[in-house]
Amino acid sequence: MDSINQPEGYFFRCIHARECGACDLIHMSYADQLAAKQAKVARLLKPYGRVEPILGMSNPSHYRNKVHAVVAQDRRGNALAGVYRLGSHQVVPVPQCMIEDVRAAEIIQSVWVLSKAFHLAPYDEDRRTGFLRHIMVRVAQSEVMIVLVTAQLVFPGKNAFLKALLKAQPGITTVVQNLNDRKTTMVLGKRDIVLHGKGYIEDCLCGCTFRISPQSFYQVNHAQTEVLYRLAADMASLTGQETVLDAYCGVGTIGLSMAAKAKRLIGVELNPEAVRDALGNARRNGIEHAHFVADDAGRYLQKVAQENAAVDVVLMDPPRSGSTPEFLHALLMLAPKRIVYISCDPTTLARDLQALHAGGYRMRRAVPVDMFPATGHVETVVLMSKNTNKIYLGQE
Ligand code: SAH
Repeated sequence: MDSINQPEGYFFRCIHARECGACDLIHMSYADQLAAKQAKVARLLKPYGRVEPILGMSNPSHYRNKVHAVVAQDRRGNALAGVYRLGSHQVVPVPQCMIEDVRAAEIIQSVWVLSKAFHLAPYDEDRRTGFLRHIMVRVAQSEVMIVLVTAQLVFPGKNAFLKALLKAQPGITTVVQNLNDRKTTMVLGKRDIVLHGKGYIEDCLCGCTFRISPQSFYQVNHAQTEVLYRLAADMASLTGQETVLDAYCGVGTIGLSMAAKAKRLIGVELNPEAVRDALGNARRNGIEHAHFVADDAGRYLQKVAQENAAVDVVLMDPPRSGSTPEFLHALLMLAPKRIVYISCDPTTLARDLQALHAGGYRMRRAVPVDMFPATGHVETVVLMSKNTNKIYLGQE
């Protein structure tokens, strides 16, 4: 496991930190970053119990498997590729980012050099002129996807560019052009055109294979995602007899990664495209006892609770804003034996735990996981179960 509890005093030593600003804790040693995150979660969850030591990384650098560069022009008309300086629209090149995957960052640089050689005009946001807006790279174990976000459909010199790109970076397995012709701060437009390969890559997590399309939400830190999911599975303690409901399931990764130990898996997710990917992921892994619903998690849970359906374990992984009063109310009506709450914001987690606590649930375990070293973000996994007089031993 690429995870430790007592890290040594590692420093990131980033040469771009001042201009970039994206990693808000990069000036601290890694041990201090972990201590700060631990203290924050412990303070917020104190009313509900003890928080176990944070699971950090043994090597916290270069973990991001998704790398993205904005393409722009500076005031003098020079082409640039980099990131937006924090809180501004100024693009700063960060060729030696400390958190990006090294291979992905090299490929981005290579695409960028070639785009200049092939005169792919950088997009100008104000004038709405030019062609290339963003370069995105996603790497998995044995596959690499390039997404070129362009302002127009017609790709000048496409074949020659592709040939040169694949020669320079033979590890690239698929190239997709994404059309974004709108005035927007969103990176991706709606239309994807596959230029090379199958148009997606596959990644293996906890023994399951998942499809990553240009538009899919997928965790960026592979090693820590496995730590997080194993912890969630441990807390769910499935025996093969349980009906599991995975709420806010995205492309289904958390539920599917433990589906082999469940009797039945139901996933609910608002985004219909993610639900389609989740169904594909179930099929890809030969999981036949899972079904996925495109709905608001609160509304769906209310329906399930009114039908008096038996759900043993609820996994919930809401967005940063946390869950909703409707969802929490329905969850209390449903009264599962165990709730495993995976949270990316301890403030909204603490707020939601208050409602579950008032409804008779107690926090049995809480473990922070460091998914985003160098930044202030912290993920927390919490196990709740009903307040009975029995001593809880982690198994029914
Ligand atoms: N569990 C997934 C995704 C977590 S991100 C994973 O680990 O990959 C949170 C997800 O909640 C997103 O996919 C988002 O589309 C979804 N979501 C946001 N609001 C929702 C709502 N009201 N009902 C259901 N899903 C929602």
